[in-house]
Amino acid sequence: TGGSSRRFRVVLLGARGVGKSAIASIFAGAADSMDSDECELYGDEVCEQTITVDGEKATVTLVDNWDSEDEGGLSQDQCIQTGDAYLLVYSITDRSSFLQASELRISLRQHRPAHHTPIILVGNKCDLVRRREVSVTEGRACAAVFDCKFIETSAAMQHNVWPAFHGIVQQLRLRRDTK
Ligand code: GDP
Ligand code: MG
Repeated sequence: TGGSSRRFRVVLLGARGVGKSAIASIFAGAADSMDSDECELYGDEVCEQTITVDGEKATVTLVDNWDSEDEGGLSQDQCIQTGDAYLLVYSITDRSSFLQASELRISLRQHRPAHHTPIILVGNKCDLVRRREVSVTEGRACAAVFDCKFIETSAAMQHNVWPAFHGIVQQLRLRRDTK
C-alpha cells in the first residue's frame, strides 16, 4: 500500500457544545512517538497527527470546523464534502443534539451518496450520568438505523476517545482494502 492511502481526513460534526473541540484537543495532544512531529496545527481547527493503529501508522487530519464562526474557515458544505470519514457527535445530556445528529446523517447521505463513508455516532459526555437524556440503547439503535458504528465517550475523562479514532481508521482501512 502506498503512503498516500494512509492519509485520512476525519471531520467532526455535531451540534454546538457537544464536545467536538474537547475531543479534538485530546487528539491534538497525542505524541505518538518521541521523534514524531508534534501535532501540526493549521489554524485552530485542523490538526494533523500520525497515529499507530494495529501496528500500522496512519496520518489523520482532524477537522473541527463545523460550528466555527471564523469567516475565513471552511464552509459547512466544504466541511461535509471533504471528509474521508466522520465522527457524528452528540451529547448524551442533550436530546436536541441527538436529533441534530439524525439530521446530519441525512445531510451526509446527500453529500456522500455513492460511498460507504465510514461514520461513527459518538455519544459524548457519558461521565455526566445524572444528566443523561439519551440512553445507550437509543444511541445504539440510532446507529443501526444510520448504518454506522456507535461509541459513547467522555472527553472530560478521556474515556473511549482514542478507541473512536482507532475505530475510524480501522473502518477507513477496511474500505480501502475492499476497493
Ligand atoms: P463543541 O462546541 O462541540 O466544540 O464543544 P466543546 O468541546 O467546546 O465543549 C462544550 C462544553 O462541554 C465545554 O465546557 C467542555 O468542557 C464540556 N465538555 C466537553 N466534553 C465533555 C465531556 O465528555 N464531559 C463533560 N462533563 N463535559 C464535557
Ligand atoms: Mg468547538
